[in-house]
Amino acid sequence: MIRLENISKYYHSGNNIVLALRKINLDMNIGEFIVITGESGSGKSTLLNVLSGLDTYEEGKLFINNKNVSHYSVRELEHYRKDYIGFIFQDYNIINSYSVYQNVALALTVQGLSKEEKHQKTIEIIKQVGLEKQMHQKAVKLSGGEKQRLTISRVAYRNPDIVLMDEATSALDSQNESEVQMALDELLK
Ligand code: ADP
Ligand code: MG
Repeated sequence: MIRLENISKYYHSGNNIVLALRKINLDMNIGEFIVITGESGSGKSTLLNVLSGLDTYEEGKLFINNKNVSHYSVRELEHYRKDYIGFIFQDYNIINSYSVYQNVALALTVQGLSKEEKHQKTIEIIKQVGLEKQMHQKAVKLSGGEKQRLTISRVAYRNPDIVLMDEATSALDSQNESEVQMALDELLK
């Protein structure tokens, strides 16, 4: 589904050039769960940003579903992200002053559902990630693990083909980490 051929990326900082990715070759297929490990600064985030179309690269080719997307414009990359990608960062992309319910409902707004359908779907998603007790709490009051489950619920509604996570659980303790892991298992199903 995704293929990287000899992808290299450089950053310019001051007079220096930092080689962030050196000729990366990688094949990823539907249904696979892939973990990328490496020490800090080894290029993991850079790789995810390239995969998601958030960042450019200087060399190599990127294929999605056998289509070469290396020469996509900014606009085409936006469509690619919208159609294919769900991205979960370490710092949760949620609105703190909104309740859990409002955060999920907001994510559903663009789908053209009726009011009742939207309400039902919102509840369904909240249950899926186990946040029904916190449904009317403001997001700012949630624990780290609950926030991350809320983030996951917002990605889940779009049902993206590719879910990218950049250290999505590294800020959490082990209890919260396993709760997030369970929510992810649900999402991946
Ligand atoms: P990781 O996620 O594995 O910790 P990164 O992908 O963030 O690694 O960084 C890879 C390398 O690229 C590091 O040497 C980092 O300093 C450098 N780098 C990352 N982002 C930038 C940037 N915006 N400008 C300059 N150098 C960067
Ligand atoms: Mg990183």
